[in-house]
Amino acid sequence: MESPMEVDQLVWNYGRKGEPPIQVLWIGHHTVILRQSKRTSYEAPFLYLLFGSVRAILFDTGATRDPARFPLRETVDDLMASWLSSHPHAEPYELIVAHTHAHGDHVAGDAQFHDRAHTTIVPHSPEDVAKFFGLTSWPEGRALFDLGGRILTVFPIPGHQKASIAVYDPDTEFLLTGDTVYPGRLYVQDSEAFRQSLERLSAFVDAVPISRVMGCHIEMTRTAGRDFPIGATYQPREAPLPMTSRDLKEVAQAAKESLNKRGVHRRDRFIIYQGQPMGALLVHAVRLLLSRVTSPERS
Ligand SMILES: [Zn+2]
Repeated sequence: MESPMEVDQLVWNYGRKGEPPIQVLWIGHHTVILRQSKRTSYEAPFLYLLFGSVRAILFDTGATRDPARFPLRETVDDLMASWLSSHPHAEPYELIVAHTHAHGDHVAGDAQFHDRAHTTIVPHSPEDVAKFFGLTSWPEGRALFDLGGRILTVFPIPGHQKASIAVYDPDTEFLLTGDTVYPGRLYVQDSEAFRQSLERLSAFVDAVPISRVMGCHIEMTRTAGRDFPIGATYQPREAPLPMTSRDLKEVAQAAKESLNKRGVHRRDRFIIYQGQPMGALLVHAVRLLLSRVTSPERS
């Protein structure tokens, strides 16, 4: 895939007044990145919608249940209608609703799809995820998932959360890494599992062409090693979303160095949180309060 891409340059919505609840970016003709607005949830996750000739797959359903505040179903239906109008496809055309992992800010919108025809919602447990994709030796192994002319590789990467998966798309050469690798605070729930998953990710990026490593949040500023306060709903000058194989290898190295060392492990492009370090969380609460007082654009 050619470089640079619009996704490298784009300034995402970051909590400005009047921004839409969901921002949409097409990458080529068959891929959409969606970002939930900071004005509907401070988590402001990124979601990914990939089209093949037989089915489409949506990774994640955002942080907010209420379709009035977060019209995900409507947005996805519009995107699908637009894609279907200009591309040959199977009838009926399927939608799979899957998840990078099972945390609330990635599954909250599931219910918006319950009554959608020709739609499968993948349940959240590691067992269910393994069964759906055909992963027979969780957390080892990989599975192929065919969208029709577009075969994704899916593999388990527990550590941030026990049902975490990585997804490789040969079309964009994106590696989707959920909350395991992204420009922000990487919360480690199981230190050893996280280290092993990063080792598997490192081996994977050596084996296939990777254009970008794409996670689900931005929490870093454009200043190296500096993040926004936890809970920030206004984030001007965010770090770019895309990361590289090199960044991923740095996460792998940091996962090794910080193994079982509770606390905050800061690098230029990300920060690893091993466990729940109370001191650091308190500092964030104070920073958040201060930012609300000084922010030029409060709601
Ligand atoms: Zn998340």
